[in-house]
Amino acid sequence: MITPVLPNYGRFDLAFERGEGPYLFTTGGERYLDFGGGIAVNALGHAHPHLVETLKAQADKLWHVSNLYHIPAQERLAERLVAASFADTVFFCNSGAEAVECAIKMARIYHHANGQPERYRLITVTGAFHGRTLATIAAGGQEKHLTGFGPVVDGFDHVPFDDIDAMKAAIGPETAGILIEPLLGEGGILPNRPDYLRQLRALCDAEGILLVMDEVQTGIGRTGKLFAHEWAGITPDIMAVAKAIGGGFPLGACLATEQAAKGMTAGTHGSTFGGNPLAAAVGNAVLDIVLEDGFLEAVQQRAIVFRQKLARIADDHPEVIEAIRGEGLMLGLKCRVPNTELVAALMAQKLLAVGAGDNVVRFLPPLNIEDAQIDEAIELLDAACHALKDAPDRAGGA
Ligand SMILES: *Cc1c(COP(=O)(O)O)cnc(C)c1O
Repeated sequence: MITPVLPNYGRFDLAFERGEGPYLFTTGGERYLDFGGGIAVNALGHAHPHLVETLKAQADKLWHVSNLYHIPAQERLAERLVAASFADTVFFCNSGAEAVECAIKMARIYHHANGQPERYRLITVTGAFHGRTLATIAAGGQEKHLTGFGPVVDGFDHVPFDDIDAMKAAIGPETAGILIEPLLGEGGILPNRPDYLRQLRALCDAEGILLVMDEVQTGIGRTGKLFAHEWAGITPDIMAVAKAIGGGFPLGACLATEQAAKGMTAGTHGSTFGGNPLAAAVGNAVLDIVLEDGFLEAVQQRAIVFRQKLARIADDHPEVIEAIRGEGLMLGLKCRVPNTELVAALMAQKLLAVGAGDNVVRFLPPLNIEDAQIDEAIELLDAACHALKDAPDRAGGA
């Protein structure tokens, strides 16, 4: 018999009742160290006092009004994102897929407004993840997400990861732009080379097409810069953001230059909930902290420490961990055992991590994680690796 909740997820047998900083507590009172962060959402950990106070105060005043009216907190959030990025303008929505969907529509209507409506196709990267709507599964192009859902939305061409020649060859008279994650998240914590991203920027400029970044997972400080593309010294024309921007409250955003957004006039696109007063208040509270002087530098420092300590564990357990990859506090362990086994072994140690493609285990700790908690995670990882090695069915190595 089907469960009342649609059984579309494979769930672990765990339920949490409250959180505090990097810790989660189960309904039974057991404490877990959360290095999954709701998949890069809880950027400031759980129940951050500033976010809690902001949300409570706003809850007493006003939750929702329609985008038929001005929403001052939304305007303030947009102004702050514009001031802190390449962008001139922001559309608010509620999720990553919606942010990417807006980016896709914006890229298409840009060329329409430019008198080239035939330019509607976006080139994406094999193994990428852009969300689960009909258009974003077509953008991702992964068979496991597309099967059974009818005709694939037209307008996406896929090229291999880090292949500039394939990218050049894929550009044609119908190409509107390139859609890319600066660092593939679900695909396995695979960073694009900064030089490759610079080549893509130059290619887009030369061809008169748009560079669209999906920073849904990498954005809002995760890699130690506010946005990951900053490491390459380039800017996109359009960018999708979500996950961490609401610190746990559903919020997404599509940022763009004035030029790239020129087709998005009144009536072309919309969202009932997007950027409502409650969401915008929390989004502003997240920025209050992430944009504080020194916050991102501290993320970079912590990331160096965490990565060095992970490298030592990898050296000690080569039969479990093959390599470490990622940027900032978005780090992946490429595994020599099935990644599901390492996730389970970590969970047995009460450390939460998340699997990713390419047999990777992801760590996405809070950006404000403390050194002592990094050490705690390292000890738990060490114990999990030992437990995996000592498991009877692993005698003789993986
Ligand atoms: C999570 C993710 C999405 C989809 O976000 P949802 O909020 O689940 O719709 C899109 N792109 C990237 C890169 C993501 O990591």
